[in-house]
Amino acid sequence: AAAFVEHSDPPKIRVVVRKRPLNAKELERDEEDVVRVDMHDASLVVNEIKVKVDLTQYTERHQFSFDDALHEGVSNDEVYRSTVQPLVATIFKGGKATCFAYGQTGSGKTYTMQPLPIRAAADMFALLADRQFADMSLFVSCFEIYGGKLYDLLNGRKRLEMREDGKRRVCIVGLKEYLVESVDLIQQLIEHSNAARSTGSTGANADSSRSHSIMQFALKKTKADGEPGKQVGKISFIDLAGSERGADTYDNDRQTRLEGAEINKSLLALKECIRALDNVARHVPFRGSKLTEVLRDSFIGDEARTVMIANISPTSSSCEHTLNTLRYADRVK
Ligand code: ADP
Ligand code: MG
Repeated sequence: AAAFVEHSDPPKIRVVVRKRPLNAKELERDEEDVVRVDMHDASLVVNEIKVKVDLTQYTERHQFSFDDALHEGVSNDEVYRSTVQPLVATIFKGGKATCFAYGQTGSGKTYTMQPLPIRAAADMFALLADRQFADMSLFVSCFEIYGGKLYDLLNGRKRLEMREDGKRRVCIVGLKEYLVESVDLIQQLIEHSNAARSTGSTGANADSSRSHSIMQFALKKTKADGEPGKQVGKISFIDLAGSERGADTYDNDRQTRLEGAEINKSLLALKECIRALDNVARHVPFRGSKLTEVLRDSFIGDEARTVMIANISPTSSSCEHTLNTLRYADRVK
């Protein structure tokens, strides 16, 4: 385990794109797969089908390259190894790590994101079993940002407020934190938080595609009485709102418009904050949105590491959203 902590220093920003396979419905409709991923050189091509004024079709080719490009055959385990696993050592060295899933609704954000905390926890528990980390424990919290407001997903969607303490550290007042000592318990907490997450289907809550959901693992020194002590490091897993929602600003419904504006603002602020990570001289514009304010600590300091997973759909009908996602991811790297 000790050798693992000596893992070479991961880059400050890593951008990985993941393409999902065509689903049963898309196959049934004979939809065209317009995305070709070349994993060897971490690049991909989107073949956009366009129509001329005389109604003839032609293809416009868009090429992108990232730190990693994962095709539809790649497993969640491989995604973990390419994204979060290198960040585990960062947390034990006192750093802040953040993993985002970005993309349009239905592109595979939740499918990609859900297993990552479990796998990270398994690696973290393996390290915690090492004597050198005997005085540390893992604490889990989970909340949602919806319409610029915070809700505790492990405490009955209780409304939460964010404050800055005297040292300008962000704290979320009243956020429930659970001491976890097994992967099983984390699994249960994830299921619990999923059930609490806003869902469009029940009508009671908001549509989950309009909220950012955040799970955080804080590695802390444990006091003799079992209470959490000083924080060592932290990792955040963020399943972002559907990127297409940021364009809802022209919707007829006022509520939808406001939510769309908030999402748009937060995704733009996020992009700027991640870009600032690579450049110490650059101002970190975290005040641009609730999302970036909450993550402020994770954008500051030499030990801050971010990985963005850009999820994309393969179909021709998603092409415009896919290109928007790839352009966003391209601006971040
Ligand atoms: P999002 O969270 O971005 O809205 P989901 O993660 O819910 O999207 O994915 C949409 C659907 O596609 C789900 O049914 C999910 O199981 C499936 N899916 C997504 N990515 C993959 C993948 N890589 N392999 C197989 N199925 C996938
Ligand atoms: Mg989702």
